[in-house]
Amino acid sequence: MITASQLYAYVQCPHRVYLDAFDDQTRRDEPNAFVELLWEQGVEHEAQIVAGLGITADMSVVQFDDRERETRLAMQRGERLIYQGRLSSGDRLGAPDLLERRGDRYIAGDIKSGAGLEGDDSDAKLKKHYAVQLGHYANILDLEGLGVGHEAFVIDRSGSRVPYVLDEPQGSRNTVTWWEAYLESETAVRALLAQTAVTLPALSATCKLCHWYSFCKADLIARDDLTLIAELGRSKRDVMMSAVPSVRALARSNPDSFMQGKKTDFAGVGPDSLIKFHHRAQLLATPGAVPYLKQTVSLPIAAREVFFDIEADPMRDVVYLHGFVERLHGQPGSARFVPFFADGIDPAHEERSFGEAWAYLSARVEDSIVYYYSKYERTAYKKLASRYPGVCSEEQVVELFGLPAMVDLYSDIVKPATEWPTYDQSIKTLAQFLGFQWRDTHPSGAASIEWYHRWIETGDVAIKQRILDYNEDDCLATGVVLDGIRRL
Ligand code: SF4
Repeated sequence: MITASQLYAYVQCPHRVYLDAFDDQTRRDEPNAFVELLWEQGVEHEAQIVAGLGITADMSVVQFDDRERETRLAMQRGERLIYQGRLSSGDRLGAPDLLERRGDRYIAGDIKSGAGLEGDDSDAKLKKHYAVQLGHYANILDLEGLGVGHEAFVIDRSGSRVPYVLDEPQGSRNTVTWWEAYLESETAVRALLAQTAVTLPALSATCKLCHWYSFCKADLIARDDLTLIAELGRSKRDVMMSAVPSVRALARSNPDSFMQGKKTDFAGVGPDSLIKFHHRAQLLATPGAVPYLKQTVSLPIAAREVFFDIEADPMRDVVYLHGFVERLHGQPGSARFVPFFADGIDPAHEERSFGEAWAYLSARVEDSIVYYYSKYERTAYKKLASRYPGVCSEEQVVELFGLPAMVDLYSDIVKPATEWPTYDQSIKTLAQFLGFQWRDTHPSGAASIEWYHRWIETGDVAIKQRILDYNEDDCLATGVVLDGIRRL
C-alpha cells in the first residue's frame, strides 16, 4: 500500500522510501533525540488543537483493524468532524488527522506543529511535503466518491487554518500544479515499491536528521559519489553521472570538454558551476589538500572582534540565546563569552534577552568588527524587531547589519572567496577541518533545541550550561575560521 508517510519521505529523499521498504532496518542509526522531540511536540500540539476543535467522531479510540470500517460508518452518519480516520482505495492507504464534512462530502486536513507555509510572508507558498500528503487523502476521497476535489487544509502551529488548493501552480516560474506534483510523486513511489525504479543516496542537509545517515554516508564515500562535492546535489549528480561517475572522475576530467559556449552538456549546470565543482573535486581527490583563496579578501580591522551566533527554537518560535565572544584583534587567548539567555518561554523573556543583546550589539559595532555566519541572524533580528518594536525597528536592524563593521563571514567571505577540501562549508565542518573541537560530543543546532526543551521542563542548570557552552563554542569556531582565512 502507498501511504502519505511514504509520499512525505519521497519529497525529502527518494532513496529513503527505498531503504525504509527494502533494506536491513538494523542498519539504521539510533533514534535521534531531536527527531524524537519533534515527534513528542507534534503529539502534544495535536492533542491541544484537537481539544478545541469540537471533534464529533474520534477514531483514535477505535481498534486499528476496525478503523476504516468505523470511519466509513461515521461518514455515512454525516459526522461533522472525524479525527484520525482511515481510508483506502486500491493500493492507496490514508489516515488524515481530520475529515471535515462539506455538504454531503468530506475534505481532509492535517494538524502540523510547524508553519503551514514556507518562506517569508511576502512570498510564502505551500509546503510540498504537506501538499503531496494532502493530495493523497484528496485522491482517496475522490476515488471513493467522498471528496470535494483537489482541496485540503492544514491546521498550523498557531492553530490557524491554511487552505491547500492543490490545483494552483507551485509558483510563477514552476507552473506544475501541486496536484500534478502529487501525482508525479505517487507514480515514483509506486515504481520504487515495485522495484522497477532504482534510487541512489545523495548527500544533502536532510541527511543529518535521517535514520540512514551513517549508512548512506559510508555508501556515498565508498561510491565516491558526486554529491560529496559541496552544493552538488541529487539533480545535478543525476545529469552528470553518466559522463563523470565519481569525484575522482570529475577531478581527472577536462571541464572544457563538457562546455559549448555558455552551456555545458549537463542541464541545470552552467560553465561557472562546472568549473567550481571541478576545483572542489580536485581538492577532495587530493590527499592532504589545503584550502585556498579564489580572490583577494579584504577584512576590516578594529581593536576588538566579536563573534555572534543565536540559538532559536522553530517549534516554539523563540530565540532563546544571543551569544557573543569578544576578543582583542587576532588574540584567541583574550576571548570572553557574553551570552543573553531567555530564561523562559514567555514573550517577556524573549523580549528582555533581545533588548539586552541589541544594546550590546549596537555598542560593539561602534568599536569592534562583528562576525556572524550566514544570513540567519539578520533574518531572525528583523523578525524579533517586528515582534518587539519597543526594542528596535526593522529598519534599524537592516541599517545595523548593513554597516561595514558587520561581516557575514559565510556569505561575504567563505562562499565567494574560498575553497575547502570538505563536503560542505558549514561552520562545524570548516572549524573542525582547522582542528577546532567542540566541548560537546554531539554538537548541533538541533541538539541545542532539544536541550532547551529539556531545560524548560526541568530547570536543570547543567543543561543550561551545556546550551551556553555549545553556543560559546560556535562563536569561538567562527573566530577559528576567520583566523584560518587570514592565514590563507
Ligand atoms: S541519509 Fe540522506 S540519502 Fe540516505 S536516505 Fe536519508 S536523506 Fe536519503
